[in-house]
Amino acid sequence: MKSPFHVMIIPTLGCPSKCHYCWSSDESSPKMSIETVREIAAWLKDYRSDQVTITFHGGEPLLAGADFYREALPILSEELAHLEPTFALQSNLWLLTPELAKILAEYRIPIGSSIDGPEEITDMQRGTGYFAKTMRGYGIARENGLDVRFICTFTNQSVRRKEEIVDFFLTSGFPLKLHPALPSLRSDDPKEWALEPEEYGELLVYLLDTYLENLGKIEIMNINDLCKGVFVRHGTVCTFVDCMGSTLAFGPDGSIYPCYRFVGMPEYAMGNVYDRPAEEDLAQSDAWRLMHAFKDYVDGACKECSHTRYCRGGCPYNAIAPTAGEIQGVDPHCVAYKRILDEITERLNDEMFGSGDDEMGGFGSPFGRRAKPGIMAVLQTMAMK
Ligand code: SF4
Ligand code: SF4
Repeated sequence: MKSPFHVMIIPTLGCPSKCHYCWSSDESSPKMSIETVREIAAWLKDYRSDQVTITFHGGEPLLAGADFYREALPILSEELAHLEPTFALQSNLWLLTPELAKILAEYRIPIGSSIDGPEEITDMQRGTGYFAKTMRGYGIARENGLDVRFICTFTNQSVRRKEEIVDFFLTSGFPLKLHPALPSLRSDDPKEWALEPEEYGELLVYLLDTYLENLGKIEIMNINDLCKGVFVRHGTVCTFVDCMGSTLAFGPDGSIYPCYRFVGMPEYAMGNVYDRPAEEDLAQSDAWRLMHAFKDYVDGACKECSHTRYCRGGCPYNAIAPTAGEIQGVDPHCVAYKRILDEITERLNDEMFGSGDDEMGGFGSPFGRRAKPGIMAVLQTMAMK
């Protein structure tokens, strides 16, 4: 199965926020020019022929300003019309103005934003005033009809208050996407905030249970993705597919990287759009070789694992971040992935082929008499959307 083509444009690595565990912000980062956007469109035109999703990411992509988006969006839409581009934006929303919101709404751009739970927890992790500024932007986004979903980063500190955090998302009705704080390739103390894999695994199981207890009242995107991956036996997000080749990122100067996580580290650039490299040229770069070496490594290291088809060793960036860019293992979250994937598989098998006395929505009950929602109910809820 071919993975969807996903391109990330990083207009700048600058960001007005100073989240304590952030590994991607860089104050000295330049801003992308419109000329570079034109070059990206010209280069992408012949790179692949399938539908493309273009995500503006950062740093903080709204630092590029309203004029940037007013010009960039028509260029990308028109030049890449044959790729039927859809757009997305990842932003903390601090800089969202009604003017910017109207431009984004014209292209029906869904926004992924970030809060880590209630105001006090968010501000503890992301800095004083973060929550209020993001909520102000959220109000502007909603007034202009923009769809906003929140990523909630769990750190080794906030995980101790997971009940409060989930309750916040439940009562506010915000869909939730969980993100574990990661070790960073750029930090002197890469694990300062990082969530340990065992804790992450337990958190995922907790979220699965909470989700099932509150089905229809909260949406937890990771649980949806994991359940779907197990059911269709193929990953549905980049972490659980071979992302190399189907994901690309462009830095502010037009450099081409395997993913936004590498942007700003020139040693991971595979080329630059101004040089119009062919795919064979990108394939000569160290970063391309590293990403493909990871794929080969996973084929061997995960061979005996029953989840290989829909896990694929996890994220290559996560795998190399703790070892200064060397492949010495798969994604350290393997422990967490195994824990939740075992749990989902076991429950799903039980629902489909077991007694099924106390689950809902599977094939196992001869009478359809089920008290508690199970994995099939999650899949049915997703299918109805
Ligand atoms: S490196 Fe990780 S985050 Fe980037 S596309 Fe691959 S799986 Fe996704
Ligand atoms: S769960 Fe671990 S061993 Fe299994 S495929 Fe994923 S990374 Fe590999």
